[in-house]
Amino acid sequence: MNKTTNPYNSFKTLLGENHSNGVDSYLLDNSKIQGDSSSFGIVKRPKVLMYHRIVDDKSLSKKYDTCLHIDEFHRQLELLDRLNYTPITFEDYRLYLEKKIQLPQKPIFLTFDDGYLDTYKLAYPLLQEYGMKAVIFVLGDRKVKTNIWDLGQAKIAEQAELMNDEQILELHEDGFEIGCHTLSHLDLTQLSSEACFQEIKKPKIILEALLGSRVNSFSYPYGLVNEEIKRKVYRAGYWFACSVFSGPVQFGIDPLEIRRIAIKNNTSVAGFAARLIIPYEYLEWMWWKGISNKN
Ligand SMILES: [Zn+2]
Repeated sequence: MNKTTNPYNSFKTLLGENHSNGVDSYLLDNSKIQGDSSSFGIVKRPKVLMYHRIVDDKSLSKKYDTCLHIDEFHRQLELLDRLNYTPITFEDYRLYLEKKIQLPQKPIFLTFDDGYLDTYKLAYPLLQEYGMKAVIFVLGDRKVKTNIWDLGQAKIAEQAELMNDEQILELHEDGFEIGCHTLSHLDLTQLSSEACFQEIKKPKIILEALLGSRVNSFSYPYGLVNEEIKRKVYRAGYWFACSVFSGPVQFGIDPLEIRRIAIKNNTSVAGFAARLIIPYEYLEWMWWKGISNKN
């Protein structure tokens, strides 16, 4: 396994800051990075999109938030292509921070949670057609073959098959990033400290053995995270971790709580374009803030 440098050190170098203590010191101050133009150039802050399932069955895409119809997905890729976006991985971003590669003009992250079989069967061929890659967050427990965590929650999703090891390996070999989505998709905020750490650490070991390379990225089930969980994720050796509706509005401020833009079944192509062009995360953040102030 290659020894790689922690990207936080690159954040530090970039900012000229002397962060030294614990994980909190890595949580960067927004004001310091904004408009930074070191020899490294302007810091790029890609948007991070979140998908779950891509389906070809219209009854599913009508019913469930998490099921996007393949035709809509196709339109979205077409638009990304037309607007010159290039999907990148967190590994690309790490290499960029290490000044080993340049990022494309308009980088973006396409992330898929849970590792559904339809990500492999339907999304992958289309992404290939456009020469695009994505980040796929899969479970460490390789005995789990379907989304059993959704059982009994019929309104949320239908039972769906997950990718097997060979399919995950194929994506990995094709330049897709395989990230970790815990061992068994438990709500980390409800676990004891030790159980929580095991849910985070064990799958890293399992997936790294499967892939033969380091697993650096993580996504929190249900997007649920707190400071204690972030410390565990950092201690387990991950460098990037994705939430959903929490975390700083701009990418890179807190690499352990990366806010994502959810692409849902009813996201029209105009809505998708708006999410790309306007500071959508900021508007969403304002909206959530408004809601929580009212409660
Ligand atoms: Zn999930």
